[in-house]
Amino acid sequence: MNVLIVYAHPEPRSLNGALKDFAVQHLRAAGHAVQVSDLYAMEWNATLAASEIPERVHHRADILREQEKLRWADTVIFQFPLWWFSMPAIMKGWVERVYTLGFGYGVGEHSDRRWGDRYGEGTLSGKRAMLVVTAGGWESHYSPRGINGAVDELLFPIHHGILYYPGMEVLPPFLVYKARSMGEQRFAAITEQLGQRLDTLATTPPIPYRRQNHGDYDIPAMILKADIAPAASGFAAHLA
Ligand code: FAD
Repeated sequence: MNVLIVYAHPEPRSLNGALKDFAVQHLRAAGHAVQVSDLYAMEWNATLAASEIPERVHHRADILREQEKLRWADTVIFQFPLWWFSMPAIMKGWVERVYTLGFGYGVGEHSDRRWGDRYGEGTLSGKRAMLVVTAGGWESHYSPRGINGAVDELLFPIHHGILYYPGMEVLPPFLVYKARSMGEQRFAAITEQLGQRLDTLATTPPIPYRRQNHGDYDIPAMILKADIAPAASGFAAHLA
């Protein structure tokens, strides 16, 4: 399997750095090919330029290289520390620049039966994606009634809007809570669990998001049909 790790942490000796190194070694030892986009080390330019907005598309070499890595990958892992309830800005800027018109969005034809190729279809369909995220907060803080909001809801914009949108199947995330309380023993337990998740990348059932063009939504309103999960609303309504 070809695995791309898109990774954002400025400090190689961080917990994230150690988990990323572990993942690379573990995957390679299992016979997989691994590429890493280490965004800070690459000094990734996270700012979409005027020349890159859709009407004046000029894809720079750095964007084309990342798109090529995505095409190459069977599985894409996005690894980052949770910063202000989301991915670090450098990774958001990677998405903004790499997901160009005709690649990340604006793919496929629009008709009264299809609304382009997205949400389960698109350039990256057939690939799998998984988040590896560390957070300072506790697991209870991210539980369904926790003060920070439920983690599934917090990650929905990334899972559904960034990974599923261009076609990837999204695996449940690998989360490390209370990340600042780390000792040798806990680190060993976490790498063991991460290793198990890496060993099952090809077989773990994805989050069952609904497909856009398979009958659940009214097109072009793109709203769930009245008879589909009538009591459901919000993010959870998009789970089949
Ligand atoms: P590090 O600080 O590098 O390490 C964490 C611990 O792991 C340390 O004790 C370190 O000694 C230990 N460690 C590192 N490597 C190893 C190793 N190889 N073996 C054993 N132990 C090791 N948290 C939230 O929950 N929600 C937020 O919205 C949020 N926003 C943030 C915004 C910013 C700007 C910042 C800076 C932090 C924020 N945090 C938030 C906290 C953040 O998520 C955590 O600090 C981060 O996830 C920890 O990961 P790290 O790689 O930076 O850990």
